[in-house]
Amino acid sequence: MSSAGPRGVTSGPGKARAADADDAGATGALSSHLRQVSLARLAEFGIRPKRDLGQNFLIDDNILGVILAQLECRPEDVVLEIGAGLGVLTGALAAVARHVHAFEVDRSLEAPLAVTLQGDPKVSLHFQDVLKASLEDLQPPPTLSASNLPYSVAGPFIIEALQRLPGVRRYCVMVQREVADRMAAAPGNKTYGVLSVWVQLYAKIVRVRPLARSIFYPQPRVDSSLVVLDRLPAGQLPGCSTAELRAVIQAAFGQRRKTLVNALSAGLDLSREQVLPLVESLGLPADVRAERLAPGQFVALASSWAISESGAVSGAVSDHDA
Ligand code: SAM
Repeated sequence: MSSAGPRGVTSGPGKARAADADDAGATGALSSHLRQVSLARLAEFGIRPKRDLGQNFLIDDNILGVILAQLECRPEDVVLEIGAGLGVLTGALAAVARHVHAFEVDRSLEAPLAVTLQGDPKVSLHFQDVLKASLEDLQPPPTLSASNLPYSVAGPFIIEALQRLPGVRRYCVMVQREVADRMAAAPGNKTYGVLSVWVQLYAKIVRVRPLARSIFYPQPRVDSSLVVLDRLPAGQLPGCSTAELRAVIQAAFGQRRKTLVNALSAGLDLSREQVLPLVESLGLPADVRAERLAPGQFVALASSWAISESGAVSGAVSDHDA
């Protein structure tokens, strides 16, 4: 990955800023202070928030205290933050963690971030799209994650991170309420889908609280929620190969109007005759749709498919040998 290591020390008008961020994180007080600092930083660098990158910056100190309280960061923890923005959350995290990896795709935020973070050696800034990053190569490896997630990144990041970062025990994330709804949706709910299945296979989800639009600048047009995801113990995680599970979940929800049998047949390039026994072996009716299956049933499907595939392969080999 093209990651940058800890940034060099930058001098300048923001000299006092790192201490400000630390104080905000440590005390959660002075609720108008962060607003002034964030707005001043935007003005100072002539930055207009970019809607397409989901730039709604935090301007409320109290929320920093809430995030830190939920995160339960220990001094040895390494925190992964997606979307450093102006660095206010980054600075608060660095004040309590051993190290922080902060991703930011917008290069125009490099200068304000340097001022905010003052070359803090505990922070590695990675100026790249997190969805293209080799998360598993991060050193030191993350043990926690805390972010004010942009809408387009939230679902894909969480799905990837849950599978690729086994060392992250807790995620404390701000997301649009609709994303929180999808994470927590039960089978049969209209928002139940790919994100719900992955999140619920890997984590216990707690919707901590709704977030007022006024804690962001500019104010978003939609509501947001603070969500905590706690990774399930290893013994409760999916036992089958992630590649097969991915293929099954993608295929199952790829064509929501179709029955599960038809969707799997189209998505996995199998005949109906091959798929039907897999579905029926779970005690499911032939006309069931993907949104009716509990997360664990996708694991059972993927495992049965893997077994039938290996049977087909070994059958083919022994036929050939014969
Ligand atoms: N953490 C800051 C805060 O709370 O004030 C900023 C949060 S803002 C909601 C989201 C940030 O994510 C923006 O700074 C945006 O540029 C960044 N971002 C958007 N897409 C990204 C991506 N694909 N990879 C990394 N950062 C991204």
